[in-house]
Amino acid sequence: MDDPADKPAVDPAPDVLFVCVARSSPIGRAQDSINELAQHLPIPGRVTQCSFCWSPAYWPCGPFDTAVYQLENAGLRPADFVPGGLHQRLWPSSPAARAPRPTETS
Ligand SMILES: [Zn+2]
Repeated sequence: MDDPADKPAVDPAPDVLFVCVARSSPIGRAQDSINELAQHLPIPGRVTQCSFCWSPAYWPCGPFDTAVYQLENAGLRPADFVPGGLHQRLWPSSPAARAPRPTETS
C-alpha cells in the first residue's frame, strides 16, 4: 500500500490563482466582485452545481449572477474572469462575451 502508484494523481495546477493589480485600477476596485465570481464557479466536471453554495440545484447561482451584474456595471467583461469552457453555457450564441470593451470602441 506504500507504493506511489497506489496514490491518486494530483494535478499540481490550482483552479484559481492570485495576481497583483493596482488597487485603484478598474480590476482592483472590482476585487470583491471578482473574488465572489471565482468563489461561485461550478464544480469541475459538474457545471450545474456551484462549488460554494451547494444548496441550489442549479448553476449559475444567485451570488454568481450578482457578481456578473456588478462587473458589467463596473465596465468590465465578466467573461474575462470565467473559464472559457463555461462561456457557451452562460452566454449561448452571444458574441457579447468576446465583444470589445466600451473603451476600446470609443
Ligand atoms: Zn454559489
